[in-house]
Amino acid sequence: MSSVPELFGSMVFDDKVMRARLSAEVYHSLKDTIRKGKKLDLSVANAVADAMCAWAVENGATHFTHWFQPLTGITAEKHEGFLSPAPDSHVIMKFSGKELITGEPDASSFPSGGLRATFEARGYTAWDPTSYAFIKEKTLCIPTAFCSYGGEALDKKTPLLRSMEALNREALRVLRLFGNADVKRVVPNVGPEQEYFLIDRDLYLKRKDLIYTGRTLFGAKPPKGQELEDHYFGAIKPRVKAFMEELNEELWKLGIYAKTEHNEVAPCQHELAPIFTVSNIAADHNQLMMEIMKKVARKHNLMCLLHEKPFAGVNGSGKHNNWSLSTDTGVNLLSPGDTPYENAQFLLFLVAVIKAVDEYQGLLRLSVASAGNDHRLGANEAPPAVISIFLGDELTAVLNAIESDSPYAGTEKRRLRLGADVLPRFNRDATDRNRTSPFAFTGNKFEFRMVGSNDSISCANIMLNAAVAEALRQFADTLESGSGDFDVRLHALIRETISAHKRILFNGNGYDDAWIKEATEVRGLLNLRTTPDALQMVLHPENVEMLTRHGVFTEAEIASRYEITMENYVRTVRIEALTMVDMARKEILPAILRYLSDLSASLNEQKKAVPVLPCRVETKLLTRLSALADGIDDAIESLEETVSARAEADMTEQAFYIRDSVLKEMAALRALCDEAETLTAADYWPFPTYGDLLFRV
Ligand code: ADP
Ligand code: MG
Repeated sequence: MSSVPELFGSMVFDDKVMRARLSAEVYHSLKDTIRKGKKLDLSVANAVADAMCAWAVENGATHFTHWFQPLTGITAEKHEGFLSPAPDSHVIMKFSGKELITGEPDASSFPSGGLRATFEARGYTAWDPTSYAFIKEKTLCIPTAFCSYGGEALDKKTPLLRSMEALNREALRVLRLFGNADVKRVVPNVGPEQEYFLIDRDLYLKRKDLIYTGRTLFGAKPPKGQELEDHYFGAIKPRVKAFMEELNEELWKLGIYAKTEHNEVAPCQHELAPIFTVSNIAADHNQLMMEIMKKVARKHNLMCLLHEKPFAGVNGSGKHNNWSLSTDTGVNLLSPGDTPYENAQFLLFLVAVIKAVDEYQGLLRLSVASAGNDHRLGANEAPPAVISIFLGDELTAVLNAIESDSPYAGTEKRRLRLGADVLPRFNRDATDRNRTSPFAFTGNKFEFRMVGSNDSISCANIMLNAAVAEALRQFADTLESGSGDFDVRLHALIRETISAHKRILFNGNGYDDAWIKEATEVRGLLNLRTTPDALQMVLHPENVEMLTRHGVFTEAEIASRYEITMENYVRTVRIEALTMVDMARKEILPAILRYLSDLSASLNEQKKAVPVLPCRVETKLLTRLSALADGIDDAIESLEETVSARAEADMTEQAFYIRDSVLKEMAALRALCDEAETLTAADYWPFPTYGDLLFRV
């Protein structure tokens, strides 16, 4: 293996490569496009394409593709060869500027929620030059946005870029008010920590539920679970270690700063955290990371499970979306500064996030809603479905002091005057140790912990960026229009904002039932427990108004995304239900019947030999198992019937129906099968158990 610095980014057409391979003129116009979003002209695009093609071919690439993130949740690619015919029946490797900047994938196979029908039959992809091109499996991948010809976004990147624009615009307005003239750009930075499970591939292949749905739909609790918490930061097993080493190398080649890796609480669960970067690139990298994790796992005869809840009763997986705002002059706006002015600015950005999260709780909640994540939010390790913000004791004390205009201990018991006093640095608060808060301030960033492990981080960041942009817009409006001493007005604004939104602040245990009661009954916070509830929030007029005002989505895009996400939920649960029917009918029931028949044969033989034998165990097992078999048979039929009903209803109705009827029947069937598993002899059980899956890597 080459050295890490040599390996790092070796498959990326990054700044270093650009500088080496482009003329100064071309390089500078491309940089202008990247930095200021200026349009790229075709002659520059042609020069970049030539250099990119030469570089890619030298590095073994034979094809290129526009790489994009349609609304299906995975990334899409359509490979095309570089090969072009040349005179004298020769071929040359080439690729034009036009091919670099736009493409036309066959869009009909991607979900559009009715958009293409309304606008145009086809969609096109357009290069996002802020995200570097890279080589993966001999293919030059060009990160692109995907839109309809009417300009409607059909992907996740476009609205993310738009939300970053909105945030940049409003944050700059606020910074100008603080007299800050040098900053030209404000960007959200994101570091998503990715959790995942690794299990043995041979065992995986024996379970249809894992194959079809990514999670186990049956499985009795093993004698040992995560009770001992012996996995967290425990020694990493050699096979897993080998996987991690190869994964790191693959990620490094693509310029992804994979930094930490450790075991998680659950057996077989691990985490990978990259070093943070600008949010659209972080989103691209996270997609790549998930893809490469799966690929590398297979090479080690392992399977990487990214589902939010692969095993009932065992911790699920999420993604902690670490988010902060930084300027092109290198200032983190969520970090308290060294001067009173910087501190006042920090507090304004801090309360902007508080206001944003309170006012747009619904959008944040829906941004992480999926059938998979429903099993996690509110379960024993994940944040609850109620959104609140953890600030820690120190920072809470500062905000309380400002709100009540009372002395603050940190400033020698004086009243805190914004613009005059310096705040202490806030380190991560020790009280955050239990990690039960869905949205926590951790020193110089916020950590949004509700994102599902399998989900793209785009949606969460779109909503977060948009909501904060809106809060900053209102602040800028207020401060720009007022007159009188700026510090006084600023102080008043911060104070009012704290008063209006402090209901969202909560430093206690988020899993506590008493908290959920207080949050919903006393504080009036939303508790959207399931995906259909959460998704509906996007249609609320105040949410539509905000998202369209900032140009993040059009109304048509909102409607189409609503349709697609509801449909996705319905389809996911339907596939799970049908998989259960299939497994229960073709594998579980036959296994139980086989065992029952052997049991009764042996019982009969024993009775024949010694008619007075009571055969207590056999009789008891026979009675209970045959009752369970009857129950399972009924439950299969009933689930099958329920799942196929209402298929013609509209998506919203179907989603609620699925949630209220199908999920219940699935739980009932599972309970019977899991009990049967505990009573059936191990060699009769048709597929690997939880014990096998969790403890055999
Ligand atoms: P943990 O939360 O596991 O204790 P860290 O706090 O070190 O770990 O970092 C977790 C993630 O947060 C990493 O991906 C890291 O790059 C990211 N991160 C750190 N600082 C920032 C920041 N200012 N903005 C965004 N992400 C950040
Ligand atoms: Mg974390």
